[in-house]
Amino acid sequence: MPADRLLPTQDAVDLIALTRQIGDAELAPRAAADEADGRFPRDVFTTLGKSGLLGLPYPEEHGGGGQPYEVYLQVLEELAARWASVAVGVSVHGLSCFGLAEFGTEEQRSAWLPEMLGGGLLGAYCLSEPHAGSDPAAMTTQATRDGDHYVLRGTKAWTTHGGCADFYKVLARTSEHRSRGISCFLVPADADGLVADPPERKMGLTGSVTATMRFEDVRIPTARRLGTEGQGLSIALAGLDAGRLGIAAVATGLAQAALDDAVAYARERETFGSCIIDHQGLGFLLADMAAAVDSARATYLAAARRKDAGLPYGPQASIAKLVATDNAMDVTTQAVQVLGGYGYTRDFPVERYMREAKVMQIFEGTNQIQRVVISRALARADKATTDVVREIR
Ligand SMILES: Cc1cc2nc3c(=O)[nH]c(=O)nc-3n(C[C@H](O)[C@H](O)[C@H](O)COP(=O)(O)OP(=O)(O)OC[C@H]3O[C@@H](n4cnc5c(N)ncnc54)[C@H](O)[C@@H]3O)c2cc1C
Repeated sequence: MPADRLLPTQDAVDLIALTRQIGDAELAPRAAADEADGRFPRDVFTTLGKSGLLGLPYPEEHGGGGQPYEVYLQVLEELAARWASVAVGVSVHGLSCFGLAEFGTEEQRSAWLPEMLGGGLLGAYCLSEPHAGSDPAAMTTQATRDGDHYVLRGTKAWTTHGGCADFYKVLARTSEHRSRGISCFLVPADADGLVADPPERKMGLTGSVTATMRFEDVRIPTARRLGTEGQGLSIALAGLDAGRLGIAAVATGLAQAALDDAVAYARERETFGSCIIDHQGLGFLLADMAAAVDSARATYLAAARRKDAGLPYGPQASIAKLVATDNAMDVTTQAVQVLGGYGYTRDFPVERYMREAKVMQIFEGTNQIQRVVISRALARADKATTDVVREIR
């Protein structure tokens, strides 16, 4: 059952309708088979790019959709309800374009952004390292200046689209300063010395490729640095706030799909002479699932509206990521319960949803790290409130 949405404009209504149409025709019918075979659907990203759905929150003058985040996230949610790997890919691609869109020079933006937002070039971002995930400032990948080039050397772990992307947004050290010694680069996939390991063998999201990327003396021109030298960690963290909202929306779409399947099954399946949805014990379980989905959606939309209004939204993005992904884990687990023994088989999608939900509590900052962000914001709550009041004035 499609989620009931209150959308701000007719444009947004049309975009949701287009997403549902493309999702029903091009994503949903092949999701189960491609996930089972571990096939990465590169062509789907081209289709989404050509339909204008890859660059929705970015400015129109560079090929984006000029849409508020509130609308972009609901599009992501609709994609996730049909195929989570694709929705995660759209979110990661958006994050890979973020550094260029927000911190690039006008020359850099007009050179690369239109093709990225149009689906011609698929992006990946390389922040995590084998020993630096939750603590990215512990990274060791080096970018050494050599005339009008940088030479990148190191290993980046867990790269979504690793080996399949056309460009990589890479964070690397340009000095030893823990936080201000990191810079941001756009590396083309065909750069000499850039090598992808074989993809990780994951529990779920098997239609999304995840691989370690090795930078073996990769030379790139200084014109491929985004922002100033040393600004990289700020660029990465600013991108993560937006990216966390993306994952919150994806998790909500996945949970909605699990709820829909569970309700449809519970209306049909009979025990003791009635449909299982009419047994109060099971009906209440479904009610809790519906409440979890709706509250996740409300939470990410509240954070998105702050972002759209130009207000600080970092802690709210962390709350949205935490609530939506924990709720998705609960809802998908309960969906398996609703289907009983059938839920535990690969003949129904709910077991896949449950495996897909798990990773959402881990990437874009684990849910423990979201709690760190939220509790730190609480510790300086008075200052944050003063800042907001000052901004509104
Ligand atoms: C499928 C997948 C795709 C990914 N895609 C990308 C990508 O495209 N680009 C990218 O850069 N990264 C990506 N990642 C990496 C992801 O962001 C990291 O896995 C994540 O940040 C956690 O880092 P870690 O795995 O090194 O765990 P660790 O940092 O080693 O954490 C291990 C455990 O300790 C906990 N922990 C750590 N520090 C604290 C603390 N201070 N307080 C409380 N608990 C703590 C964590 O919550 C976790 O439970 C991806 C990961 C996966 C699994």
